[in-house]
Amino acid sequence: MSEILVLVEQVDGEVKKVTLELLTLAKSLGEPSAVWAGPGLSDAAAAKLAEYGADKVYNAAAQEVVDYVVAPKAELLAQLVADKSPAAVLVAATAEGKEVAGRLAVKTDSGVITDAVGVGEGFVADQSIFGGGVNVRSKVAKGTPIIAVRPNSTPPAPNAGAGAVEEVAVALSEAAKAARVVERVKQEKGARPELAEAAIVVSGGRGVGSAENFSVIEGLADALGAAVGASRAATDAGWYPHQFQVGQTGKTVSPQLYIAAGISGAIQHRAGMQTAKTIVAINKDPEAPIFELADYGVVGDLHQVVPQLTEEIDKRK
Ligand code: FAD
Repeated sequence: MSEILVLVEQVDGEVKKVTLELLTLAKSLGEPSAVWAGPGLSDAAAAKLAEYGADKVYNAAAQEVVDYVVAPKAELLAQLVADKSPAAVLVAATAEGKEVAGRLAVKTDSGVITDAVGVGEGFVADQSIFGGGVNVRSKVAKGTPIIAVRPNSTPPAPNAGAGAVEEVAVALSEAAKAARVVERVKQEKGARPELAEAAIVVSGGRGVGSAENFSVIEGLADALGAAVGASRAATDAGWYPHQFQVGQTGKTVSPQLYIAAGISGAIQHRAGMQTAKTIVAINKDPEAPIFELADYGVVGDLHQVVPQLTEEIDKRK
C-alpha cells in the first residue's frame, strides 16, 4: 500500500467535512496521511482524522504557516512530497485548495487535476471541466499526482487508521512570505450548513422577485437542513449576498440534492451545480432550460409551490 497525503481543511481547530471525505477516498486507494498546516492540532482533531483513516498525522504547527497567504501550505506539501515520496496528494477543490494544488504542481514538477468528482485505481480521476460542461477521465502522467477533489464527492465513512502524530518543521522560503495575512474576519456562522459543503442546497433566482421573498427559499432550506444559494441575477439585484452565488463566477456545489426555484438554468449557473446528484427545478415556464437538467421538475409559481413543500416537509418531521 502506498502513502497518500491529504491536506486538512479546518476552522478554529475543527476538521471540516471535506477532509473526512478525502480521507475516506484516500483509504480506498492507499494509506492516508493527514497534513495539518499551522497551529491548533488538538487530540480530538487528531483522533477524528485517525477515525476516518489517517495512519499518520503530519503536524506542521509553526504559526508562520498560516501567517502568509496560501504559499506556505504549498511549500509544506512540497517538502513532504520530497521527504516521503507519496503516491499522490489530495486537497479539497475549494478556492484555497485549488491554489495550493497549482502551486504544488509547479514546485514538484507534477501534473495536477482539479475539480475531480471521483478518483479510482491508478489515480484515474473523473473530472468536471469547462465549467461543468464536460466530464473527462484524467490521469497525471508526470511526477506525483496532485488531485483537487470537490466537496461532497465521497460520503465520509469511519475506517480507523493508526493516527500517529509526527511533528514537521517547515523551512519557508522568502518567496512564500510575499503576502502576509493582516486580518482575519470571522464570518457569522449561521445555523445553516456551509454552501460548498452542504448535502442539500436550495437556491433562488430572479423568479423569487425580491429580497424579502427570499424568506420563502430560506424556509424550505431550514425545513430540509439545507444551505441557501442564489443565482447571479438574484445576487446582482441585491436580494441575497454575493457569497451565496452559485455558478461560474460564484461557488461550485455538488450536493446530494439541489433545488432550483425561479432559476432559468443559464450555462453559467449550471457550471456551479450540475454535478449535484439529484436536481429539482421549480419554474413557472415549462420551456425553462433548467428542466433539461433536472431529475424532477415542478411547473408552477414558486410562491405557491415552495411554501406547500415546506409545510409538507415540516409535517413529516
Ligand atoms: P432568469 O434567467 O431571469 O430566470 C428567472 C427564471 O425564473 C425564469 O426561468 C422564469 O420562468 C422563472 N420565474 C419567474 N417567476 C417565477 C415564479 N414566480 N415562480 C417560478 N418561476 C419563476 N449566473 C449565475 O447564476 N451564477 C454565476 O456564477 C454566473 N456567472 C456569470 C458569468 C458571466 C461571465 C456571465 C456573462 C453571466 C454569469 N451569470 C451567472 C448570469 C447568467 O448568464 C444568467 O443571467 C443568470 O444565471 C440568470 O439568473 P436566473 O436564472 O435567476 O434569472
